[in-house]
Amino acid sequence: MSETHSLVVLGGSAAGLGIAHSFLKHIEPELKKLGQTYHVYIVDSSTHFFWNTGSPRSLASATLLPVDKLFAPIADGFKQYEPSLYTIIHGTAESWDVAGRTVTIKLANGDDTQTLSYYALVLATGLRTPSPATSLHGDFVITKAAIENLGQKLASATSIIIAGGGPTGVETAGEVGHFLNGSAGWFSYRPANPKAKVTLVTNANKLLPVLSEARARTAETYLNYVGVDVVYNLSVVSSTIGADGKTTVDLSNGQQWTADVYIPAWGAKPNSQYVPADLKNDAGYVKTNGTTLRVDAAGPRVYVAGDVGNYSRGGFHNLYSALPVLVANIKHDLLAAALSDQPDAKAEAPPERLFVRNDSETQAVPIGPRGVGAVHGWPFPSFLIWLVKGRDFMIGNIPITVNGDILKRVM
Ligand SMILES: Cc1cc2nc3c(=O)[nH]c(=O)nc-3n(C[C@H](O)[C@H](O)[C@H](O)COP(=O)(O)OP(=O)(O)OC[C@H]3O[C@@H](n4cnc5c(N)ncnc54)[C@H](O)[C@@H]3O)c2cc1C
Repeated sequence: MSETHSLVVLGGSAAGLGIAHSFLKHIEPELKKLGQTYHVYIVDSSTHFFWNTGSPRSLASATLLPVDKLFAPIADGFKQYEPSLYTIIHGTAESWDVAGRTVTIKLANGDDTQTLSYYALVLATGLRTPSPATSLHGDFVITKAAIENLGQKLASATSIIIAGGGPTGVETAGEVGHFLNGSAGWFSYRPANPKAKVTLVTNANKLLPVLSEARARTAETYLNYVGVDVVYNLSVVSSTIGADGKTTVDLSNGQQWTADVYIPAWGAKPNSQYVPADLKNDAGYVKTNGTTLRVDAAGPRVYVAGDVGNYSRGGFHNLYSALPVLVANIKHDLLAAALSDQPDAKAEAPPERLFVRNDSETQAVPIGPRGVGAVHGWPFPSFLIWLVKGRDFMIGNIPITVNGDILKRVM
Protein backbone atom coordinates (compact mmCIF):
# COMPACT_ATOMS: atom_id res chain seq x y z
CA MET A 1 0.00 0.00 0.00
CA SER A 2 1.19 3.52 -0.81
CA GLU A 3 1.03 6.48 1.56
CA THR A 4 -2.45 7.91 2.20
CA HIS A 5 -3.21 10.86 -0.09
CA SER A 6 -5.46 13.71 1.05
CA LEU A 7 -8.22 15.24 -1.03
CA VAL A 8 -9.21 18.45 0.75
CA VAL A 9 -12.57 20.00 -0.17
CA LEU A 10 -13.08 23.52 1.16
CA GLY A 11 -16.82 24.23 1.40
CA GLY A 12 -19.56 21.71 2.07
CA SER A 13 -22.45 23.20 0.11
CA ALA A 14 -23.82 22.07 -3.26
CA ALA A 15 -20.46 22.23 -5.04
CA GLY A 16 -18.26 20.78 -2.30
CA LEU A 17 -20.75 18.04 -1.47
CA GLY A 18 -21.07 17.18 -5.15
CA ILE A 19 -17.31 16.69 -5.43
CA ALA A 20 -16.89 14.82 -2.14
CA HIS A 21 -19.72 12.38 -2.90
CA SER A 22 -18.57 11.86 -6.49
CA PHE A 23 -15.08 11.10 -5.28
CA LEU A 24 -16.19 8.64 -2.59
CA LYS A 25 -18.70 6.90 -4.85
CA HIS A 26 -16.87 6.79 -8.17
CA ILE A 27 -13.19 7.72 -7.94
CA GLU A 28 -11.93 6.29 -4.65
CA PRO A 29 -12.95 2.70 -5.58
CA GLU A 30 -10.93 2.96 -8.81
CA LEU A 31 -7.90 4.30 -6.97
CA LYS A 32 -8.21 1.56 -4.38
CA LYS A 33 -7.97 -1.05 -7.13
CA LEU A 34 -4.59 0.49 -7.99
CA GLY A 35 -3.46 0.18 -4.38
CA GLN A 36 -3.94 3.88 -3.64
CA THR A 37 -5.29 4.99 -0.27
CA TYR A 38 -7.13 8.29 -0.02
CA HIS A 39 -8.74 10.31 2.75
CA VAL A 40 -11.21 13.12 2.05
CA TYR A 41 -11.43 16.18 4.29
CA ILE A 42 -14.62 18.20 3.94
CA VAL A 43 -14.18 21.59 5.60
CA ASP A 44 -17.06 23.98 6.24
CA SER A 45 -17.67 26.90 8.60
CA SER A 46 -21.15 25.50 9.18
CA THR A 47 -22.13 22.08 10.54
CA HIS A 48 -25.30 22.31 8.46
CA PHE A 49 -25.99 22.71 4.76
CA PHE A 50 -28.22 25.74 4.02
CA TRP A 51 -30.81 25.74 1.23
CA ASN A 52 -30.54 29.46 0.45
CA THR A 53 -33.04 29.05 -2.40
CA GLY A 54 -35.82 28.83 0.21
CA SER A 55 -34.71 31.83 2.27
CA PRO A 56 -36.89 34.47 0.50
CA ARG A 57 -39.99 32.57 1.63
CA SER A 58 -38.81 31.67 5.14
CA LEU A 59 -37.67 35.18 5.98
CA ALA A 60 -41.04 36.62 4.90
CA SER A 61 -42.69 34.39 7.51
CA ALA A 62 -42.01 31.10 9.25
CA THR A 63 -45.70 30.32 8.70
CA LEU A 64 -44.94 30.00 4.97
CA LEU A 65 -41.81 27.86 5.24
CA PRO A 66 -40.45 26.98 8.70
CA VAL A 67 -36.81 27.98 8.93
CA ASP A 68 -35.69 24.60 10.31
CA LYS A 69 -36.63 23.04 6.98
CA LEU A 70 -33.81 24.96 5.26
CA PHE A 71 -30.93 23.23 7.06
CA ALA A 72 -29.57 19.69 7.18
CA PRO A 73 -26.48 18.31 8.98
CA ILE A 74 -23.63 17.79 6.51
CA ALA A 75 -22.38 14.79 8.51
CA ASP A 76 -25.61 12.84 7.93
CA GLY A 77 -24.90 12.62 4.21
CA PHE A 78 -21.60 10.82 4.78
CA LYS A 79 -22.76 8.08 7.13
CA GLN A 80 -23.07 5.83 4.07
CA TYR A 81 -19.24 5.66 3.73
CA GLU A 82 -16.53 3.81 5.63
CA PRO A 83 -15.46 6.28 8.41
CA SER A 84 -11.77 5.74 7.62
CA LEU A 85 -12.33 7.38 4.22
CA TYR A 86 -13.36 10.85 5.32
CA THR A 87 -13.27 13.55 8.00
CA ILE A 88 -15.65 16.49 8.30
CA ILE A 89 -13.98 19.53 9.81
CA HIS A 90 -16.12 22.30 11.28
CA GLY A 91 -13.93 25.31 10.64
CA THR A 92 -13.03 28.10 8.26
CA ALA A 93 -10.15 28.06 5.77
CA GLU A 94 -8.05 31.05 6.73
CA SER A 95 -4.90 30.74 4.65
CA TRP A 96 -3.46 28.73 1.82
CA ASP A 97 0.25 28.02 1.30
CA VAL A 98 0.24 27.31 -2.42
CA ALA A 99 3.93 26.36 -2.66
CA GLY A 100 3.83 24.20 0.49
CA ARG A 101 0.47 22.64 -0.57
CA THR A 102 -1.25 23.20 2.77
CA VAL A 103 -4.39 25.00 3.94
CA THR A 104 -4.88 26.25 7.47
CA ILE A 105 -8.28 25.96 9.07
CA LYS A 106 -9.53 27.94 12.05
CA LEU A 107 -11.54 25.39 13.97
CA ALA A 108 -15.04 26.43 15.03
CA ASN A 109 -14.73 25.48 18.69
CA GLY A 110 -11.98 27.45 20.35
CA ASP A 111 -9.06 29.31 18.88
CA ASP A 112 -7.19 26.30 17.53
CA THR A 113 -6.10 25.95 13.96
CA GLN A 114 -5.40 22.83 11.93
CA THR A 115 -3.08 22.73 8.93
CA LEU A 116 -3.96 20.18 6.26
CA SER A 117 -1.51 19.01 3.61
CA TYR A 118 -3.22 18.13 0.37
CA TYR A 119 -2.45 15.94 -2.58
CA ALA A 120 -5.51 17.36 -4.34
CA LEU A 121 -7.51 20.45 -3.37
CA VAL A 122 -10.98 21.63 -4.35
CA LEU A 123 -12.05 25.21 -3.62
CA ALA A 124 -15.83 25.30 -3.20
CA THR A 125 -16.43 28.13 -0.75
CA GLY A 126 -19.09 29.92 -2.77
CA LEU A 127 -20.48 33.38 -2.18
CA ARG A 128 -21.66 35.55 0.68
CA THR A 129 -24.61 37.93 0.35
CA PRO A 130 -24.63 41.04 2.54
CA SER A 131 -27.52 39.69 4.61
CA PRO A 132 -26.84 36.58 6.75
CA ALA A 133 -30.49 35.68 6.12
CA THR A 134 -29.73 34.71 2.52
CA SER A 135 -26.30 33.05 2.78
CA LEU A 136 -24.15 31.45 5.44
CA HIS A 137 -21.95 33.85 7.41
CA GLY A 138 -20.24 31.19 9.52
CA ASP A 139 -22.19 28.52 11.36
CA PHE A 140 -25.82 27.97 10.32
CA VAL A 141 -27.17 29.24 13.66
CA ILE A 142 -26.27 32.80 12.56
CA THR A 143 -28.40 32.47 9.44
CA LYS A 144 -31.25 30.77 11.29
CA ALA A 145 -31.37 33.65 13.82
CA ALA A 146 -31.21 36.26 11.03
CA ILE A 147 -34.16 34.69 9.20
CA GLU A 148 -36.19 34.43 12.40
CA ASN A 149 -35.37 38.02 13.31
CA LEU A 150 -36.47 39.35 9.93
CA GLY A 151 -39.70 37.35 10.09
CA GLN A 152 -40.52 38.83 13.50
CA LYS A 153 -39.86 42.38 12.32
CA LEU A 154 -41.80 41.91 9.08
CA ALA A 155 -44.89 40.65 10.93
CA SER A 156 -45.66 44.17 12.13
CA ALA A 157 -43.84 46.21 9.48
CA THR A 158 -45.66 48.78 7.38
CA SER A 159 -42.65 49.99 5.36
CA ILE A 160 -39.99 47.79 3.80
CA ILE A 161 -37.08 48.61 1.49
CA ILE A 162 -35.38 45.83 -0.43
CA ALA A 163 -32.24 46.67 -2.43
CA GLY A 164 -31.21 44.58 -5.41
CA GLY A 165 -32.91 43.77 -8.70
CA GLY A 166 -31.47 40.27 -9.13
CA PRO A 167 -33.40 37.08 -8.36
CA THR A 168 -32.79 37.25 -4.59
CA GLY A 169 -34.19 40.80 -4.39
CA VAL A 170 -37.13 40.10 -6.70
CA GLU A 171 -38.08 36.81 -5.01
CA THR A 172 -37.76 38.37 -1.55
CA ALA A 173 -39.89 41.35 -2.55
CA GLY A 174 -42.47 39.00 -4.07
CA GLU A 175 -42.66 36.84 -0.94
CA VAL A 176 -42.77 39.80 1.48
CA GLY A 177 -45.33 41.66 -0.65
CA HIS A 178 -47.55 38.61 -1.07
CA PHE A 179 -47.42 37.70 2.62
CA LEU A 180 -48.17 41.23 3.88
CA ASN A 181 -50.38 42.60 1.12
CA GLY A 182 -51.96 39.62 -0.59
CA SER A 183 -52.46 39.74 -4.34
CA ALA A 184 -54.44 41.87 -6.77
CA GLY A 185 -57.89 40.56 -7.60
CA TRP A 186 -59.37 40.08 -11.07
CA PHE A 187 -59.12 43.17 -13.30
CA SER A 188 -56.88 45.07 -10.89
CA TYR A 189 -53.17 45.71 -10.71
CA ARG A 190 -52.66 46.25 -7.01
CA PRO A 191 -53.86 44.46 -3.85
CA ALA A 192 -57.10 45.94 -2.52
CA ASN A 193 -55.90 46.63 1.05
CA PRO A 194 -52.12 46.60 1.21
CA LYS A 195 -50.76 46.46 4.73
CA ALA A 196 -47.22 47.55 3.90
CA LYS A 197 -45.40 49.84 1.51
CA VAL A 198 -42.80 47.58 -0.07
CA THR A 199 -40.19 49.21 -2.30
CA LEU A 200 -37.61 47.38 -4.39
CA VAL A 201 -34.66 49.57 -5.37
CA THR A 202 -32.25 48.61 -8.13
CA ASN A 203 -29.25 50.46 -9.52
CA ALA A 204 -29.98 49.04 -12.99
CA ASN A 205 -32.56 50.14 -15.55
CA LYS A 206 -34.20 46.69 -15.59
CA LEU A 207 -34.81 43.81 -13.21
CA LEU A 208 -33.27 40.33 -13.46
CA PRO A 209 -30.09 40.75 -15.57
CA VAL A 210 -30.21 37.17 -16.88
CA LEU A 211 -33.72 37.51 -18.31
CA SER A 212 -34.95 39.44 -21.36
CA GLU A 213 -36.36 42.96 -21.23
CA ALA A 214 -39.91 41.65 -21.78
CA ARG A 215 -39.68 39.11 -18.94
CA ALA A 216 -38.16 41.77 -16.68
CA ARG A 217 -41.15 44.03 -17.36
CA THR A 218 -43.51 41.15 -16.53
CA ALA A 219 -41.60 40.71 -13.27
CA GLU A 220 -42.35 44.32 -12.36
CA THR A 221 -46.04 43.83 -13.15
CA TYR A 222 -46.15 40.72 -10.93
CA LEU A 223 -44.43 42.66 -8.15
CA ASN A 224 -47.05 45.40 -8.48
CA TYR A 225 -49.76 42.70 -8.12
CA VAL A 226 -48.44 42.02 -4.58
CA GLY A 227 -48.07 45.70 -3.72
CA VAL A 228 -44.35 46.15 -4.46
CA ASP A 229 -43.10 49.32 -6.18
CA VAL A 230 -39.90 49.15 -8.20
CA VAL A 231 -37.50 52.11 -8.41
CA TYR A 232 -34.77 51.92 -11.07
CA ASN A 233 -31.36 53.57 -11.40
CA LEU A 234 -31.04 54.14 -7.68
CA SER A 235 -28.74 52.44 -5.20
CA VAL A 236 -28.48 52.24 -1.45
CA VAL A 237 -25.13 53.70 -0.43
CA SER A 238 -25.30 53.01 3.30
CA SER A 239 -27.80 52.12 6.01
CA THR A 240 -28.13 52.89 9.72
CA ILE A 241 -30.43 51.30 12.27
CA GLY A 242 -31.86 53.88 14.69
CA ALA A 243 -32.73 53.52 18.35
CA ASP A 244 -36.37 52.91 17.35
CA GLY A 245 -35.28 49.87 15.31
CA LYS A 246 -36.12 51.53 11.98
CA THR A 247 -33.48 51.66 9.23
CA THR A 248 -32.50 54.82 7.35
CA VAL A 249 -30.85 54.28 3.98
CA ASP A 250 -28.71 56.84 2.16
CA LEU A 251 -29.44 56.72 -1.55
CA SER A 252 -27.26 57.50 -4.56
CA ASN A 253 -29.48 60.51 -5.43
CA GLY A 254 -28.70 62.10 -2.06
CA GLN A 255 -32.08 61.28 -0.50
CA GLN A 256 -32.64 59.40 2.74
CA TRP A 257 -35.51 56.97 3.23
CA THR A 258 -36.55 55.36 6.50
CA ALA A 259 -38.37 52.03 6.78
CA ASP A 260 -39.33 49.50 9.44
CA VAL A 261 -37.26 46.86 7.67
CA TYR A 262 -34.39 47.09 5.18
CA ILE A 263 -33.19 43.98 3.35
CA PRO A 264 -29.98 44.27 1.28
CA ALA A 265 -30.16 41.74 -1.56
CA TRP A 266 -27.30 42.80 -3.82
CA GLY A 267 -23.53 42.69 -3.89
CA ALA A 268 -22.74 39.02 -3.19
CA LYS A 269 -19.00 38.51 -2.76
CA PRO A 270 -16.90 35.36 -3.18
CA ASN A 271 -15.67 33.64 0.00
CA SER A 272 -12.06 33.76 -1.10
CA GLN A 273 -10.32 35.61 1.73
CA TYR A 274 -7.94 32.67 2.20
CA VAL A 275 -6.88 32.68 -1.49
CA PRO A 276 -3.64 34.54 -2.34
CA ALA A 277 -4.31 37.76 -4.31
CA ASP A 278 -2.51 36.60 -7.47
CA LEU A 279 -4.94 33.68 -7.82
CA LYS A 280 -8.04 35.93 -7.76
CA ASN A 281 -9.53 38.38 -10.25
CA ASP A 282 -10.37 41.96 -9.29
CA ALA A 283 -13.77 40.93 -7.94
CA GLY A 284 -12.22 38.24 -5.73
CA TYR A 285 -13.26 35.19 -7.78
CA VAL A 286 -10.67 32.43 -8.10
CA LYS A 287 -9.01 32.49 -11.52
CA THR A 288 -10.10 29.17 -12.97
CA ASN A 289 -9.17 27.55 -16.26
CA GLY A 290 -12.55 27.92 -17.95
CA THR A 291 -12.35 24.62 -19.80
CA THR A 292 -10.63 22.24 -17.36
CA LEU A 293 -11.80 23.90 -14.09
CA ARG A 294 -8.30 23.60 -12.67
CA VAL A 295 -6.44 26.48 -11.03
CA ASP A 296 -3.47 26.33 -13.37
CA ALA A 297 -1.33 28.76 -11.37
CA ALA A 298 -1.67 26.75 -8.15
CA GLY A 299 0.24 23.64 -9.18
CA PRO A 300 -1.10 20.19 -9.97
CA ARG A 301 -4.47 18.87 -8.81
CA VAL A 302 -6.06 22.11 -7.62
CA TYR A 303 -9.64 22.71 -8.78
CA VAL A 304 -12.59 25.06 -8.38
CA ALA A 305 -16.21 23.98 -7.99
CA GLY A 306 -19.22 26.28 -7.88
CA ASP A 307 -19.71 29.97 -7.40
CA VAL A 308 -16.28 30.93 -5.98
CA GLY A 309 -14.68 30.46 -9.42
CA ASN A 310 -14.69 32.99 -12.26
CA TYR A 311 -15.61 30.34 -14.84
CA SER A 312 -19.39 30.72 -14.85
CA ARG A 313 -22.33 32.98 -14.06
CA GLY A 314 -23.20 30.96 -10.96
CA GLY A 315 -26.39 29.17 -9.90
CA PHE A 316 -27.25 25.48 -9.74
CA HIS A 317 -27.75 25.16 -13.48
CA ASN A 318 -24.15 26.20 -14.14
CA LEU A 319 -22.79 24.35 -11.12
CA TYR A 320 -24.35 21.04 -12.12
CA SER A 321 -23.34 21.40 -15.76
CA ALA A 322 -19.70 21.91 -14.67
CA LEU A 323 -19.62 19.17 -12.04
CA PRO A 324 -19.41 16.15 -14.41
CA VAL A 325 -16.49 17.82 -16.21
CA LEU A 326 -14.70 18.56 -12.98
CA VAL A 327 -15.24 15.06 -11.62
CA ALA A 328 -13.95 13.58 -14.88
CA ASN A 329 -10.82 15.74 -14.71
CA ILE A 330 -10.13 14.93 -11.07
CA LYS A 331 -10.53 11.25 -11.93
CA HIS A 332 -8.23 11.66 -14.92
CA ASP A 333 -5.52 13.42 -12.90
CA LEU A 334 -5.58 11.07 -9.90
CA LEU A 335 -5.68 7.88 -11.95
CA ALA A 336 -2.97 9.16 -14.31
CA ALA A 337 -0.74 9.95 -11.32
CA ALA A 338 -1.43 6.52 -9.79
CA LEU A 339 -0.72 4.74 -13.08
CA SER A 340 2.51 6.64 -13.64
CA ASP A 341 3.83 4.88 -10.52
CA GLN A 342 2.93 1.53 -12.08
CA PRO A 343 4.56 1.22 -15.53
CA ASP A 344 3.36 -2.38 -15.87
CA ALA A 345 -0.31 -1.58 -15.28
CA LYS A 346 -2.57 -2.24 -18.27
CA ALA A 347 -5.27 0.29 -17.32
CA GLU A 348 -5.38 3.79 -18.78
CA ALA A 349 -6.57 6.96 -17.09
CA PRO A 350 -9.97 8.09 -18.42
CA PRO A 351 -9.86 11.07 -20.80
CA GLU A 352 -10.16 14.67 -19.69
CA ARG A 353 -13.36 16.58 -20.37
CA LEU A 354 -13.73 20.21 -21.36
CA PHE A 355 -16.29 22.57 -19.91
CA VAL A 356 -18.24 24.82 -22.26
CA ARG A 357 -19.83 27.79 -20.57
CA ASN A 358 -23.51 28.28 -21.37
CA ASP A 359 -24.84 31.78 -20.84
CA SER A 360 -28.26 31.12 -22.34
CA GLU A 361 -31.28 32.84 -20.82
CA THR A 362 -32.08 30.29 -18.11
CA GLN A 363 -33.62 31.25 -14.78
CA ALA A 364 -36.85 30.72 -12.84
CA VAL A 365 -37.98 33.47 -10.49
CA PRO A 366 -41.12 32.99 -8.39
CA ILE A 367 -42.86 36.28 -7.56
CA GLY A 368 -45.48 35.56 -4.93
CA PRO A 369 -48.06 33.26 -6.54
CA ARG A 370 -46.67 33.88 -10.04
CA GLY A 371 -43.24 33.82 -11.65
CA VAL A 372 -41.11 34.68 -14.67
CA GLY A 373 -38.41 32.65 -16.29
CA ALA A 374 -36.87 31.01 -19.31
CA VAL A 375 -35.00 27.83 -20.19
CA HIS A 376 -32.36 28.37 -22.89
CA GLY A 377 -34.33 31.39 -24.08
CA TRP A 378 -37.68 29.58 -24.20
CA PRO A 379 -40.41 30.97 -21.98
CA PHE A 380 -41.00 29.19 -18.68
CA PRO A 381 -44.72 29.85 -18.01
CA SER A 382 -45.78 31.41 -14.73
CA PHE A 383 -47.86 28.43 -13.52
CA LEU A 384 -44.95 26.05 -14.22
CA ILE A 385 -42.58 28.23 -12.22
CA TRP A 386 -45.00 28.03 -9.32
CA LEU A 387 -45.31 24.25 -9.75
CA VAL A 388 -41.58 23.56 -10.07
CA LYS A 389 -40.15 26.17 -7.72
CA GLY A 390 -42.59 28.59 -6.13
CA ARG A 391 -44.76 25.90 -4.49
CA ASP A 392 -42.17 24.90 -1.86
CA PHE A 393 -38.92 26.46 -3.13
CA MET A 394 -37.70 22.95 -4.00
CA ILE A 395 -36.86 21.94 -0.44
CA GLY A 396 -37.08 18.32 -1.58
CA ASN A 397 -33.61 18.85 -3.03
CA ILE A 398 -32.06 19.28 0.43
CA PRO A 399 -31.70 15.63 1.49
CA ILE A 400 -30.52 14.52 -1.94
CA THR A 401 -27.94 17.32 -2.09
CA VAL A 402 -26.59 16.37 1.31
CA ASN A 403 -26.38 12.62 0.57
CA GLY A 404 -25.21 13.06 -3.02
CA ASP A 405 -28.20 11.39 -4.67
CA ILE A 406 -28.87 14.56 -6.68
CA LEU A 407 -25.78 13.63 -8.71
CA LYS A 408 -27.71 10.76 -10.30
CA ARG A 409 -29.65 13.46 -12.17
CA VAL A 410 -26.61 15.34 -13.45
CA MET A 411 -23.71 12.92 -13.88
C1 LIG B 1 -30.88 33.68 -1.65
C2 LIG B 1 -30.36 32.84 -2.77
C3 LIG B 1 -31.25 32.12 -3.55
C4 LIG B 1 -30.77 31.35 -4.61
N1 LIG B 1 -31.67 30.68 -5.39
C5 LIG B 1 -31.21 29.99 -6.46
C6 LIG B 1 -32.12 29.31 -7.31
O1 LIG B 1 -33.31 29.34 -7.08
N2 LIG B 1 -31.61 28.63 -8.37
C7 LIG B 1 -30.26 28.60 -8.65
O2 LIG B 1 -29.85 28.00 -9.63
N3 LIG B 1 -29.39 29.22 -7.84
C8 LIG B 1 -29.84 29.91 -6.76
N4 LIG B 1 -28.94 30.54 -5.96
C9 LIG B 1 -27.53 30.35 -6.22
C10 LIG B 1 -27.09 29.01 -5.60
O3 LIG B 1 -27.49 28.97 -4.26
C11 LIG B 1 -25.58 28.89 -5.71
O4 LIG B 1 -25.26 28.84 -7.09
C12 LIG B 1 -25.06 27.63 -5.04
O5 LIG B 1 -25.43 27.59 -3.70
C13 LIG B 1 -23.54 27.62 -5.15
O6 LIG B 1 -23.05 26.57 -4.41
P1 LIG B 1 -21.56 26.59 -3.86
O7 LIG B 1 -21.38 25.26 -3.22
O8 LIG B 1 -20.63 27.01 -4.92
O9 LIG B 1 -21.48 27.75 -2.77
P2 LIG B 1 -22.37 28.18 -1.54
O10 LIG B 1 -23.73 27.57 -1.61
O11 LIG B 1 -22.24 29.65 -1.48
O12 LIG B 1 -21.66 27.52 -0.29
C14 LIG B 1 -20.37 27.83 0.12
C15 LIG B 1 -20.06 26.96 1.33
O13 LIG B 1 -18.73 27.21 1.71
C16 LIG B 1 -18.66 27.44 3.11
N5 LIG B 1 -17.54 28.36 3.32
C17 LIG B 1 -17.43 29.65 2.93
N6 LIG B 1 -16.22 30.13 3.21
C18 LIG B 1 -15.54 29.12 3.80
C19 LIG B 1 -14.21 28.99 4.30
N7 LIG B 1 -13.34 30.00 4.24
N8 LIG B 1 -13.86 27.81 4.86
C20 LIG B 1 -14.72 26.77 4.92
N9 LIG B 1 -15.98 26.85 4.45
C21 LIG B 1 -16.37 27.99 3.89
C22 LIG B 1 -20.01 28.03 3.46
O14 LIG B 1 -20.31 27.83 4.84
C23 LIG B 1 -20.93 27.27 2.53
O15 LIG B 1 -21.38 26.07 3.10
C24 LIG B 1 -29.39 31.31 -4.89
C25 LIG B 1 -28.49 32.03 -4.09
C26 LIG B 1 -28.97 32.79 -3.04
C27 LIG B 1 -27.99 33.56 -2.20
